[in-house]
Amino acid sequence: KKKIAVMTSGGDSQGMNAVVRAVVRAGIFYGCDVFAVYEGYTGLVKGGDLLKKMEWDDVRGWLALGGTLIGTARCAEFRERWGRVAGAKNMIDNGIDSLIVCGGDGSLTGADLFRAEWPSLLDELVETKQITKEKADLHRHLTIVGLVGSIDNDMSGTDTTIGAASSLERITEMVDYIDATATSHSRAFVVEVMGRHCGWLALNAGITTGADYIFVPERAADSKTWREELKEVCARHRAKGRRTTTVIVAEGALDSELNPVTPEDVKDVLVDLGLDTRITTLGHVQRGGTAVAYDRLLATMQGVEAVKAVLDLTPSDPSPLIGILENKIIRTPLVEAVKQTKKVASAIEARDFDTAINLRSNDFLE
Ligand code: ATP
Repeated sequence: KKKIAVMTSGGDSQGMNAVVRAVVRAGIFYGCDVFAVYEGYTGLVKGGDLLKKMEWDDVRGWLALGGTLIGTARCAEFRERWGRVAGAKNMIDNGIDSLIVCGGDGSLTGADLFRAEWPSLLDELVETKQITKEKADLHRHLTIVGLVGSIDNDMSGTDTTIGAASSLERITEMVDYIDATATSHSRAFVVEVMGRHCGWLALNAGITTGADYIFVPERAADSKTWREELKEVCARHRAKGRRTTTVIVAEGALDSELNPVTPEDVKDVLVDLGLDTRITTLGHVQRGGTAVAYDRLLATMQGVEAVKAVLDLTPSDPSPLIGILENKIIRTPLVEAVKQTKKVASAIEARDFDTAINLRSNDFLE
């Protein structure tokens, strides 16, 4: 009987509960035992109560709940080898042979490292007499499956990540609220949104709210001209009768000299234009609230696929990442997707936008 563990790790996103529910129920449906690892990798390192066998009823009602009920954490110990040795021991003590991780690229990098090191972790446990050789031989193979839970939509190898649609919905709602009061007072608002290296949330929120101007990491604002251009665009829109000015700034926005473009920088320009300007940093409301229908669907379809992957994989198959490409749920090599995602972030840092955008598409699959 397969024993599968499911974990949520890194920053939370809407839809993570739906992932856990789908994995628990699909796992039970296919005859497996399913464990929840509480508090991300901390649960693996510490074990005990943080590793809990789940029953069908344990996840009742989770589809509609925001956040992640099994908790998530940044776990420094798992970055150390001793932490991963402890994690391996806890898995073996519970008979767990497969791990489904829902998180961002950091969490999936950790998962892949864990799998790559697994044979040597077993050897170390045998050498230090923490487990017997016979037990190690029963656990020679570890199956890892990745699911991308992230509001940023910054992962290569999938068109969208679990939580991105909900976060975009939340931002859109918030900007609509702001627009209402901005119209009353004829004010300008600079709205900062999340996304780290990725401008997906900012770009799409700009479109869904009809913003005047959008700053994203993928297109550097020309340090010499962006202020004048921003002024010109906003003044033109005002001249046509607009009573509000809305500028969306991605948290990772940069100018052509690698300086961050901050909401304060943008505000200074709008004030200079004579506009009564306020800054709103949306912050954690973007990760909050319940998952929209699309994220619930994505999480459920991908959670079921993750369990199927656990059951299908042979020891020689690479660890898969479950993604969605052109509306089809797919499996793609986890290592490649993580490598590609890191290359995109480096290309953006190096201001090589063409490479970044090409890499973010899924050329490596061909
Ligand atoms: P988000 O995109 O929301 O920030 P993330 O999964 O990228 O999510 P990280 O903080 O980068 O978030 O990673 C989450 C956890 O994964 C870390 O706290 C650590 O326990 C583990 N992890 C990340 N990178 C590694 C690594 N290189 N080796 C081992 N473990 C890692």
